[in-house]
Amino acid sequence: MNRRMFLHTAAAIGAAPRLLLSAANEDTVMKPYHEPARDVPVVERADVLVAGGGPAGVAAALAAARRGATTRLIEANGCLGGTWTAGLLSWILDSGNKKGIIKEIIAELEKRGAVARYGGDVGYDVETMKLVLDELCLAAGVRVQLHTRVAAAHAPDGRLGLAITESKSGRQAWAADVFVDATGDGDLAARAGCGSDYGREGTGQAQPMSVICLVTGIAPEGVAEFVRGLAEPKGERNPKGRLKAEMERAGVSPSYAQPTLFYIRDGLFCMMANHEYGVAGTNAAQLTEATLRGRAEVHKLVNALRTLGGVWKDMRIVATAEHIGVREGRRVRGLYQVTADDLASGARHDDAVCRVNFPVDVHSTDPKQDKGITRERVRAKPYDIPYRALVAKDVTGLLLAGRCISGDFIAHSSYRVTGNAVAMGAAAGAAAALAAKSNRPPCELPWPEVQKTLSL
Ligand SMILES: Cc1cc2nc3c(=O)[nH]c(=O)nc-3n(C[C@H](O)[C@H](O)[C@H](O)COP(=O)(O)OP(=O)(O)OC[C@H]3O[C@@H](n4cnc5c(N)ncnc54)[C@H](O)[C@@H]3O)c2cc1C
Repeated sequence: MNRRMFLHTAAAIGAAPRLLLSAANEDTVMKPYHEPARDVPVVERADVLVAGGGPAGVAAALAAARRGATTRLIEANGCLGGTWTAGLLSWILDSGNKKGIIKEIIAELEKRGAVARYGGDVGYDVETMKLVLDELCLAAGVRVQLHTRVAAAHAPDGRLGLAITESKSGRQAWAADVFVDATGDGDLAARAGCGSDYGREGTGQAQPMSVICLVTGIAPEGVAEFVRGLAEPKGERNPKGRLKAEMERAGVSPSYAQPTLFYIRDGLFCMMANHEYGVAGTNAAQLTEATLRGRAEVHKLVNALRTLGGVWKDMRIVATAEHIGVREGRRVRGLYQVTADDLASGARHDDAVCRVNFPVDVHSTDPKQDKGITRERVRAKPYDIPYRALVAKDVTGLLLAGRCISGDFIAHSSYRVTGNAVAMGAAAGAAAALAAKSNRPPCELPWPEVQKTLSL
């Protein structure tokens, strides 16, 4: 029996998924298939094309469209929001000192009773977030295309001209004057030929992924001591440690040593208790393996808690994330790299797109050492992200926004949170519209000009 026949037979008889997944990975050792060349239809020309509709991509598309640019937003999932929605994140960090689109999104959520405030942090209802993002994009005239993945790029002479997608409609090409890569993993930039970095310098190890879930059937009064944001005002310390101890009392030990419950509203909670180590967001087989393992783990944790009875007796999962939370992917090389030194010194820049107020936050890359948050030597002071970190170095006509901008491992662990992703997206979108309108590449835009349009 050859390997392919074995896979089909094994699938039919329900053999262990782990074996199937690792066997499928070995397909790459087979002789490559040479795909014949073909004509791909160019289905549209826009002023600005944004790849990826997460927090950064939505902000970029809104900013570009509101400045008069015809704007196409291409998203692989069936909803906008990325980790915010498909990832069930439910928690916005580092938005306190930011204005503009992030404040607008939070205000829209608030109007619909979908926000929980805990000091500077903002909890939100994921389903309402999906709707708010749809409505904002439609109102701004953003041309949204869901269920479509950027699979290739055409950048003759180092100038990006086409993004090529795969979807139910087949392979299609999209032309634009300026592109924004907000895919989180830098997919468009990588396909266009940009250099990038991945993981910790020296080891290449990246932060773990997490399957987040929404849970119900527990009451805030009953479980307050285990819930971030509910515990502290009552003088309870270490709610994560208490939750972990409770899981252990139920006979299970979470792969994330600081499992976290967040209270969103009316009996709706978000739980982050899973870590998937040593897997890459740019490898579909590893993403699949991590998703299946993570989903199984969070079900096991919740089922175990339920057996304790008492405050946990009716606890149920209502949803696991459609997309596993990927903390880091490619960090695309830009005209400037944000570094750990910038964090330590509290760097200021004349072309600052936002000021980051978030600490170094590295989830352990090595479960043998630690399963929680790693102690790093760098302590971050508030620091600036310069516009240059959003301008791709190796390809013209391409801006970066969100977690794939140009930075090192430590800096990324801090600036990646969504308050900053939105601010970067807004700046990239405004710059892209200006570049398209004035027929200049993003690298030639003087920052004061971009800043002027940002304040409009
Ligand atoms: C488990 C976890 C917990 C976190 N906790 C917090 C928290 O509490 N608060 C906080 O503010 N931040 C948190 N973060 C960080 C934050 O969620 C991300 O850094 C942030 O979402 C980055 O925004 P983004 O738009 O750059 O990327 P993403 O949110 O990853 O969005 C990227 C989007 O691009 C799409 N995409 C990817 N590839 C393609 C392609 N080839 N073609 C088309 N579309 C594509 C994806 O489907 C996705 O919608 C957490 C992250 C994780 C993973």
